Amino acid sequence: MTATETRACINGCSLYRQHLTDCTGDGCRGCLPTRARHGLLCDNCYRRLELMLTDAPIVHRWLGGNMAASTTQHLDPDGPAPSRHRTKGDESPAPLNVGILDTRQLLADRLAIWVDHHCEEVKVTGPDEHTPANDAAHLIRWLPSIACWDIVSDWMEELAETMRDAHQLAPWRPITRRIPGIPCPGENCGETNLAIYGGDTDVTCLSCRTTINERAFGLWEQIVLNREAS
Ligand SMILES: [Zn+2]
Ligand SMILES: [Zn+2]
Ligand SMILES: [Zn+2]
Repeated sequence: MTATETRACINGCSLYRQHLTDCTGDGCRGCLPTRARHGLLCDNCYRRLELMLTDAPIVHRWLGGNMAASTTQHLDPDGPAPSRHRTKGDESPAPLNVGILDTRQLLADRLAIWVDHHCEEVKVTGPDEHTPANDAAHLIRWLPSIACWDIVSDWMEELAETMRDAHQLAPWRPITRRIPGIPCPGENCGETNLAIYGGDTDVTCLSCRTTINERAFGLWEQIVLNREAS
């Protein structure tokens, strides 16, 4: 490896339809490793981690409002946390959903542990108090340097797993929503296979896994529509 070459993304991401020289391409959707551009992470992974950390405190609050086992409503991510007092009249209160309680605690614990680990390693002061909001803000602030640590891959996997569990226990967006008629802006792709995953605000290409944030997608959509109109 020369000094100018970057490493491959630590999460083993690869480029869609781009192959290593010894790959025959048969049944391979792409095997050329994606370059790490933020510490050890590729663009997509970095963005995903940042987004998960941004969402984590909202999800924590959302789970708090869903601890009563009978609640079935869906989350407005911008709105206030839903009330947990969902039982009416003189019905006995719904039992607490232990799975939600555990996942909520695990989410808070993971963020707190990572903040402590980071503060100890690099000798910086953490937030005054461990809360999911404080801890996530700390991790986002230090994300450019945290992304250079090997452990970032484990943290990312753990956070993704907890967020997935949370979404399964108390879905805040019922389903993945397809976006018809707009091709993927990703390099080497261009397939019309875009969707917004349940719980995400980013648009994801289901073919090449490129993620596009809301604002960039709005712009891209406009470009495509203008092109069609002309
Ligand atoms: Zn290949
Ligand atoms: Zn990656
Ligand atoms: Zn694509």
